[in-house]
Amino acid sequence: MSIRFSCFNKMAVALLVLSCATVCAQTKSVTDNRPVDIVVQGAMDSELQPLLDALDGKEEIQIAAWTFWRGKIGSKTVVVSRTEVGTINAVVSTTLAITTFKPKLVINQGTAGAHDPELKVFDIVVGEASVDFGAFRSAHADAGAGIEQSRWTPMPHRLRMDGKERVTFNNFPGDEEAMKTAMGTAYKQGRVIKGIIGSSFEFNKEIDRLNWVRKTFGASSEDMESVFAAGTAAGFKTRFLAIRIISNSEFHSPKFEEVAGKYCAAFVVDVIKRLK
Ligand code: SAH
Repeated sequence: MSIRFSCFNKMAVALLVLSCATVCAQTKSVTDNRPVDIVVQGAMDSELQPLLDALDGKEEIQIAAWTFWRGKIGSKTVVVSRTEVGTINAVVSTTLAITTFKPKLVINQGTAGAHDPELKVFDIVVGEASVDFGAFRSAHADAGAGIEQSRWTPMPHRLRMDGKERVTFNNFPGDEEAMKTAMGTAYKQGRVIKGIIGSSFEFNKEIDRLNWVRKTFGASSEDMESVFAAGTAAGFKTRFLAIRIISNSEFHSPKFEEVAGKYCAAFVVDVIKRLK
């Protein structure tokens, strides 16, 4: 009887230790505040695979609705973040990434539509800046006067940096050093070009809208996350770079080429390896 009891007891203790270890391991991953070198973001699985393949010893970390994987790419500690699609997802996942992992640099990468008709599918745009092209105010127009883009003027974002003055951002500049590294990274599927990366929770296929956005905001491309990640990083004074690949151009190749996500992520793996 006493032997049986102690056997049961040992099993219970072993189970307790095991489940405690699991919980502790999970908690450790979230509260582990060792700084990482780079957080690299992609909205969809199709934009993440080469990054996840390159990530050695990866550990998955789930925080609420957002998934992160921490590991190593070469000598660097890297967190790959699946932001999910759109503005809310971009802001929250970037906030979580910066507060949890304290990266030195955030790279937002993935697919985009062309605003510049010269851009071809698989060309890569390295963001000298990111701009919110859904931010504008209109002048008054009477009922029946229609909806006219010519009445719209861009509205900047304002961040109260360090709780002091409100700083106006017409766009959010990319990190110079990371941009230089990206521009010098070899890429076979197209060109690597500097440009202004536009974002809004919109998927535009009207040529007049695309042309107006390009003329008004100077955007070369459109996606749904970059500028929202950039603005968040700016508020935290964290270095940031957006790198986007053209997956569709309404001007000549409207079909969304999913493989573009893979090409971009593979390029970004090479950028990460080359970063100092
Ligand atoms: N087939 C995909 C299409 C997603 S498009 C699906 O079923 O979900 C939306 C995503 O791709 C966003 O994360 C956005 O950043 C990017 N994107 C690619 N091309 C875009 C475009 N022309 N306009 C806006 N976002 C685009």
